[in-house]
Amino acid sequence: MSRCITICPIGSVEKGILEHISECISFRCNLTCRFFTGMDNPKYAYNEIRCQYDSKLILRHLLRECPHDTLKFIGVTSVDLYVPILQFVFGLAQIEGKCSIVSLRRLYPQFYNQLPDPDLLLKRVEKTVLHELGHTFGIIHCRDRRCVMYSSTRIEDTDFKQPAFCPTCSELFKWHLDKSLQQDP
Ligand SMILES: [Zn+2]
Ligand SMILES: [Zn+2]
Repeated sequence: MSRCITICPIGSVEKGILEHISECISFRCNLTCRFFTGMDNPKYAYNEIRCQYDSKLILRHLLRECPHDTLKFIGVTSVDLYVPILQFVFGLAQIEGKCSIVSLRRLYPQFYNQLPDPDLLLKRVEKTVLHELGHTFGIIHCRDRRCVMYSSTRIEDTDFKQPAFCPTCSELFKWHLDKSLQQDP
């Protein structure tokens, strides 16, 4: 299997953010990134009552479109995501699967009526992407609040954690990565 991660914008996503995600994955995980032709706004997943998008439906769509020769496939969207049992999610991933999705919506300081802060936004994006990517490598939630695999239920959780795996999760990541690279495409 190649060391390539494919990033797929879903709907309109700032180019600078996509490039930042690519740089972070290369830097933190020593993997290469490429971009997938964008997908349209996921109207099929829109819930009119909640005014949000069903993240599981989008994940299922990503799975159908996933290129065969990619190690992982990450969808990035600006729309607000949910799963039925929660008010919202920052992202969703298949545990030990190929696909994940990240929402930028609640990462913008403006969402919390704060002033725009591009550095803060990019840090949040990095942590959210690493977290979902970690799930696709089979890593579950970590109890260490500083670890990127700690479950963020509020943006404060994301701001508190580091953009890195704790020593235990880091070992797991390496182990799962090696295992994935040995598999046939
Ligand atoms: Zn998680
Ligand atoms: Zn950890």
